[in-house]
Amino acid sequence: MNSLLKTLSCAGGHDPESIPVEQARKLILDLVEPVAGTERLFVRNALGRVLAEDVLATANVPGHDNSAMDGYAVRFADLAPEGETALRLAGSAFAGRAFAGHLEAGHCVRIMTGGVIPEGADTVVIQEVVRAENERIVVPPKQRQGQHVRRAGEDLRQGSPALRAGKPIRPAELGLLASLGAAEVNVRRRLRAAFFSTGDELCSLGTPLKAGEVYDSNRYTLFGMLTRMGCEAIDLGVVRDEPAALEAAFRRAAAEADVVLTSGGVSVGEADFIRGMMAKLGEVAFWKIAMRPGRPMAFGKIGDAWLFGLPGNPVAVMVTFYEFVREALLKMMGVAPVEPLPQFRVPCTTALKKRPGRSEFQRGILFRENEEWKVRATGTQGSGVLHSMSEANCIIVVEHERGNVEPGELVDVQPFEGLV
Ligand code: AMP
Ligand code: MG
Repeated sequence: MNSLLKTLSCAGGHDPESIPVEQARKLILDLVEPVAGTERLFVRNALGRVLAEDVLATANVPGHDNSAMDGYAVRFADLAPEGETALRLAGSAFAGRAFAGHLEAGHCVRIMTGGVIPEGADTVVIQEVVRAENERIVVPPKQRQGQHVRRAGEDLRQGSPALRAGKPIRPAELGLLASLGAAEVNVRRRLRAAFFSTGDELCSLGTPLKAGEVYDSNRYTLFGMLTRMGCEAIDLGVVRDEPAALEAAFRRAAAEADVVLTSGGVSVGEADFIRGMMAKLGEVAFWKIAMRPGRPMAFGKIGDAWLFGLPGNPVAVMVTFYEFVREALLKMMGVAPVEPLPQFRVPCTTALKKRPGRSEFQRGILFRENEEWKVRATGTQGSGVLHSMSEANCIIVVEHERGNVEPGELVDVQPFEGLV
């Protein structure tokens, strides 16, 4: 038994040839490590990348106390507790154009949202409640000290970490980095993911189908899923079910990439060489998971490259990718902490057939009825029916121990939004 397999079989006490989903997920996640390389990018080019270091606030954000409303900056001490107070207008403070002087007693300054609070002022009175009268601004009673003032450093204090290493850079982070004046950031290098399809029946696009052939769709879903995650997707084409061709493909993929994904050829059929080839060139950790679809799945390593031998069925490819590969890729990309897919419980309006002793991932449609979110299964659930993935907007997760689901029972769903 090779070392990886040994580590894994010792880890759980489960038969390494049939392992529960949760355990497989954890074992994979524990083994993979973030890639070491980093690069410095202009902020906009960093969208979709992962921060390689903490980014500290170089200054307070906002940099000055400023007004949250349009109105008048006043000295709270000037305001009469009961009755109105008339103040003399001393000038204006607009966003980007501060009031130059010190606000003297008995005066106020016209101020707009974002305008810097003048020295001496501490409170803003909104324009809607004041009255202009004989060159004076009349303020009603019952104002609160400090109202409508955004404090310097309220968003971020100078020197505090604004963003932590491991943070994926999304639109909010681009804006936050810009608000800190950071023109460039250090990010992890892009993860290189090579993939190929296996099967003598597969036909590539652009070639007419011969009898018994199917178009290779897995390379397209894999390309999409990897690209969406921000990986460099390296397409190595279709590989015949021949040991020599598979060996050459694995060697090339492992040399070029951090992670290698294959589809097909992992069940026990005559032509299923993937597992054997992975074991010959490197190590295989396990190859059967107690789940449906996607039971055969190999995980292993050749040299420094991690391998995922995904099943051939198009739906199983997507399900195993999102249930196992996604988290591993996130960790390799440097994301910390790695969060599982969001999952929540809703009533299921259709009956689901389910056998205890394995996790099942069915295609579902989340919908709203009488103000409540519910889910129903898509019509066809065959693991070859990619159409069901396209029709669905979520995966219904029926847990390991559970049996049949009756209409109205609660089930877990993982929404697709942002994934597919
Ligand atoms: P396998 O695991 O290789 O026996 O494949 C299981 C099923 O998935 C077979 O019906 C294959 O034809 C189909 N399949 C495998 N690879 C692909 C692919 N790349 N695109 C579409 N269907 C595939
Ligand atoms: Mg095959």
